[in-house]
Amino acid sequence: FDDDMPEKLQAAIRDVPDFPQPGILFKDITPILADPELLQASISEISATLPHQNIDKVVGIDARGFIFAPTIALQKGAGFVPVRKKGKLPWKTKSQSYSLEYGENVIEIHEDAVQPGDKVMLVDDLLATGGTAGAAVKLLKALGADVVCVSFLIELSALNGRDAIECDNIHSILQYS
Ligand code: AMP
Repeated sequence: FDDDMPEKLQAAIRDVPDFPQPGILFKDITPILADPELLQASISEISATLPHQNIDKVVGIDARGFIFAPTIALQKGAGFVPVRKKGKLPWKTKSQSYSLEYGENVIEIHEDAVQPGDKVMLVDDLLATGGTAGAAVKLLKALGADVVCVSFLIELSALNGRDAIECDNIHSILQYS
């Protein structure tokens, strides 16, 4: 890819103020997804954060992690596993709550989605406070998985979300302060 691909990706992201609530500057990635070159590049860049390692599963977080994780899974010869918001998964689940600015959220994974010792990569579109990804890592570890890497397209660096994630191999392609 061109050296200026990160700039092209950054330029395509649309900032939407006060969505979904006042005070949030929403990073809209749909212009990246709609452009074949940028879609390809975004997936390749996230995928390249895990070089030369065999993994068993790529785990995507509801909902925009689902856009990237299955394609990366296919590239890595791994399976795809969804971590979902409460109440969406049909089978037996393990749940983890995490706190938001106001109140709390719960995410879930199927109990049999990963096996003890599985090597997994966790993927989401954006790292903000790290609450969501931190909870997902807790779920994966509780099931005995080895979380080898946690990767995002976008990181809002000023929020220090990395500190909330129990993994020492955390990557992002585009950083905003
Ligand atoms: P957090 O748990 O605070 O790290 O938030 C991460 C989750 O919320 C991710 O699944 C993101 O898709 C979403 N999210 C949080 N903040 C934003 C934002 N400013 N723009 C777009 N998505 C966001």
